[in-house]
Amino acid sequence: MNALEHDVPLAKLTTIGTGGAPAALARPRTIDELRDALRYARAEGLDVFVVGLGSNVLAADGPLDVLVVRLEGELAAVEVGDGLLRAGGGATNAVCLHRARAAGLGGFEFACAIPGTAGGGVFMNAGAYGRDWNEILVRARVVSAEGDEWRSPGALGLSYRHSELRPGEVVAAVEFQLEPRPTAEIKTTVAELVARRKDTQPTNKRTFGSVFKNPTGELGAGRMLELCGLKGHRIGGAQISPKHANFIENADGATSADCVALMVEARRRVHEEYGVVLEREVVFLGLPELPPT
Ligand SMILES: Cc1cc2nc3c(=O)[nH]c(=O)nc-3n(C[C@H](O)[C@H](O)[C@H](O)COP(=O)(O)OP(=O)(O)OC[C@H]3O[C@@H](n4cnc5c(N)ncnc54)[C@H](O)[C@@H]3O)c2cc1C
Repeated sequence: MNALEHDVPLAKLTTIGTGGAPAALARPRTIDELRDALRYARAEGLDVFVVGLGSNVLAADGPLDVLVVRLEGELAAVEVGDGLLRAGGGATNAVCLHRARAAGLGGFEFACAIPGTAGGGVFMNAGAYGRDWNEILVRARVVSAEGDEWRSPGALGLSYRHSELRPGEVVAAVEFQLEPRPTAEIKTTVAELVARRKDTQPTNKRTFGSVFKNPTGELGAGRMLELCGLKGHRIGGAQISPKHANFIENADGATSADCVALMVEARRRVHEEYGVVLEREVVFLGLPELPPT
């Protein structure tokens, strides 16, 4: 197994830039190294937490009693052939999109502004502009201390920003089914989608993406938070984005505790105003669940 690292805080592995140090960080590059890391965790009695680009993770500020696994090397490689894009779980969406476009394969454009990995996208069933992983995923290779199997989207239980993956299960590889599409058209679509993002979301700030899931009903989470007057609301170094109220920005040395305090306040205000209990989208690591409103 590659040497484990013991001094890398989650603040360095997440897009929001907060979070304390895990017991150990493993960066496996092959399936065998991944298995070794999972065996190590089991032997040490540590829970396993996979981190992709950390773009939807909020981790406790103090020490974390987990083994963090970040997939690299072969486990982050991408190949294209026979209309399929085969990616390691740690492959970034940006590289997947680049490779698909170069091969004249469309269908992944919707992910152009999702700053995560192929495996993180499976866990979250990531999506945008009416499409999600569920629509293009053929199967995902799931490795755990107990075994190694390919699962279909049905067996993964994908639904809105949700999968049935269990703790300790690692998406080591995925296969996406894409469709032939001229490269120029792919480029045009991507440029349009990126421009839409820049107009409406804080793309140049440190955030963890959507804070809350959109509830069923007419008003999205962002709109409700905005109507509660929360844009720009600040606690410590964290603030609700003045551009889109369903984002929390690390405005100035934020801690995860600042972000959680903002989430608690935001949920309280939305519940008071609309009677809706917002459900968080961001994944918590080592943090207690939000208190009932
Ligand atoms: C600016 C911005 C915009 C965003 N826009 C969108 C959007 O439009 N749509 C959307 O859906 N999301 C969006 N997000 C959120 C985020 O990018 C997605 O949820 C993304 O899919 C997370 O991928 P990741 O690899 O960074 O996973 P992480 O954030 O690192 O992890 C998220 C969860 O997935 C698990 N996980 C990660 N990799 C694996 C793996 N290989 N195997 C098993 N579990 C794994 C983690 O343990 C964790 O529970 C946005 C985030 C930001 C910062």
